[in-house]
Amino acid sequence: FFVVFEGGEGAGKSTQVERLAEALRESDREVVVTREPGATDVGTRIRSLVLNSGDAAPSARAEALLYAADRAHHVATVVRPALARGAVVISDRYVDSSLAYQGAGRTLPVQEISWLSAWATGGLKPDLVVLLDVDPGVGLGRVDARGLGADRLESESRAFHDRVRYAFLDLAAADPKRYLVLDAARPPGEIADAVRKRVATLLGH
Ligand code: C5P
Repeated sequence: FFVVFEGGEGAGKSTQVERLAEALRESDREVVVTREPGATDVGTRIRSLVLNSGDAAPSARAEALLYAADRAHHVATVVRPALARGAVVISDRYVDSSLAYQGAGRTLPVQEISWLSAWATGGLKPDLVVLLDVDPGVGLGRVDARGLGADRLESESRAFHDRVRYAFLDLAAADPKRYLVLDAARPPGEIADAVRKRVATLLGH
């Protein structure tokens, strides 16, 4: 069972990934928590290339290929083997992040990013995508308050983050059965409960 958390900056994904993992560990299934970019050694190097290159940042197409390379390696070496063991895999970001950031955000053709992602993953799709929807003004404020990489984030315009947000929402609207869209401004406990309920239903608990 493969569940993915998606959302903009400061949506609270990592908190919710942990809360779901804790809840699932009470059952006897193996739980694998992972993320993109950067879950593997190769991925750590790619993450540094795409996020910490400063003025030498890769061009938009190169960036899209780097995220795809991170994902291809992640799926082949972490996600598929875990799913094959019967584990529940919880990933912080997956394909939708590329459709939203590299596609809508950087204005590369979304269909092409979708093909690239399908090739990178061999077509592996999540069973559930939890979208933590946040207004970029609120989300970026939260990131700022934590002092996490705010410089880099602010190098993208508000319009960029708005495009990313609406791309995530459009993806969810196009495939409602696979998505759970939650307002990231709600209390974390309520969000965690809603996620847990949906996952329990899908797992037949
Ligand atoms: O979720 P996390 O904070 O680890 O993501 C790091 C950054 O990578 C995010 O700020 C996001 O802007 C960027 N990112 C991206 N395209 C992706 C995945 C992440 O631009 N496909």
